[in-house]
Amino acid sequence: ARRAGHHRVAIHTEESAARRLARQTQERALRKAIETNTLALHFQPKVDLQTGAVIGAEALVRWHLEGTGDIPPAQFIPLAEECGLIHRIGEITLEKAFAALAAWMETDLPPVPVSVNVSAVQLDGRLLAAKLRDLLRASTVPPELVEIEVTETAFAHDMEGAIAELQAVRAMGVRIALDDFGTGYATLSLLQRLPIDTLKIDRSFVSDMIDSRSSEEIVRMVVALARALGKDLVAEGVETVEQSRRLVELGCEAGQGWLYARAMPVDALMAFIERNRGT
Ligand code: C2E
Ligand code: CA
Ligand code: CA
Ligand code: CA
Repeated sequence: ARRAGHHRVAIHTEESAARRLARQTQERALRKAIETNTLALHFQPKVDLQTGAVIGAEALVRWHLEGTGDIPPAQFIPLAEECGLIHRIGEITLEKAFAALAAWMETDLPPVPVSVNVSAVQLDGRLLAAKLRDLLRASTVPPELVEIEVTETAFAHDMEGAIAELQAVRAMGVRIALDDFGTGYATLSLLQRLPIDTLKIDRSFVSDMIDSRSSEEIVRMVVALARALGKDLVAEGVETVEQSRRLVELGCEAGQGWLYARAMPVDALMAFIERNRGT
């Protein structure tokens, strides 16, 4: 938190007064959204690329600001990381993901694993494993249905601390995915040490792979890497049938993207699963 504070000061000296005001206004609005329980979780299906069957879902936070519209997470998550609100948002998203899974387990529809994005800042505080332990204790949700997604930035600051925290999470049976893989600085030796179950191929490679030979080669390499390390693989941002087919040809069998579905409320997700039981 101290680091985030310094960072903030540095930004403020460069920022214009107008921007600073906009930021303060948004921080106040975000604080209010948290207090009034206005943040929502939507779920994007992860599918078997060959059958279309739903094999999981990614939880994505949504903020609808009355009178303004939807504020994209790419805008307010960085703000929340800077002002410390990310810790509360992280708790809220985990609580909501558990609540959705618990409600789901009351129905006849078999639940799929749900993954929740965790910010690097949340790993610094070492509160993640404790929060997950509390939630697992208090609910009927089995740990295998919960996955967290971290990016390589989680290991940039205190690598040993982040690894220890994720090992504690994994020891409970919760799965861990490495998000946006290929865009950061993870070396092969680091990758070998990370306590992760899944690699998620970043959307940028998927969107470029049809037109760019090098992007296709990177996807091919990541598939081979996942195999060599015994990790599961998911491609993100699949938008066209052509991309989906090519991914399968290259050996990547799981994906998510607008070709299949956007993120949606949990009841819509359940209806989507009913309609797409695979072929
Ligand atoms: P991400 O984890 O890489 O999430 C995937 C983003 O790609 C989502 O945007 C999703 O809606 C979008 N997406 C999915 N399929 C497609 C596609 O086919 N094409 C394109 N162009 N985009 C697609 P979203 O929901 O705006 O989230 C943006 C980022 O905000 C996420 O990137 C993640 O880093 C962060 N984020 C979202 N929810 C949370 C959260 O609950 N906690 C934390 N810490 N971060 C979150
Ligand atoms: Ca993610
Ligand atoms: Ca991602
Ligand atoms: Ca991404």
